[in-house]
Amino acid sequence: MAGNRTLTMIKPDAVKDGHIGAILAHINKAGFRLVAMKMTHLTTAKAQAFYAVHKERPFYGELVEFMTSGPIVAAVLEKDNAVEDFRKLIGATNPADAAPGTIRALYAKNVGENAVHGSDSDENAAIEGAFHFGGTEMF
Ligand code: UDP
Ligand code: MG
Repeated sequence: MAGNRTLTMIKPDAVKDGHIGAILAHINKAGFRLVAMKMTHLTTAKAQAFYAVHKERPFYGELVEFMTSGPIVAAVLEKDNAVEDFRKLIGATNPADAAPGTIRALYAKNVGENAVHGSDSDENAAIEGAFHFGGTEMF
């Protein structure tokens, strides 16, 4: 039976540092199946829209600037309990608090430049998947 889905982005810091391959290997090893994937460069308008839920937060401007600073890799991942298991795999938002061996502990620089995104609910996973991919781009 197919598992459920989450949306990840390998963020500009990790792409610049050459960590795409290592992060994808980590994700595959943890049992996630790639359903959709692309390298893209977010426009300011797209980054603002993706993170609109944070628009009143003090870090919003910096976050949008960072997320448009270079290319990202967006992907939809499938596994039973995908959202929760992927949040565990990536670790806490601030890499200083991320459990050892998590993707953020291994590859994030700081609370802003933190290597990867992971959806926080099934509902947002569906919204974020559709944000990056059309139905015919998901397999
Ligand atoms: N962020 C930041 N400063 C903060 C908190 C968050 O720059 O104090 C950035 C960081 O890149 C984070 C993103 O905003 O991944 C979204 O924040 P959220 O609280 O949703 O964290 P996440 O769900 O990514 O762990
Ligand atoms: Mg979040």
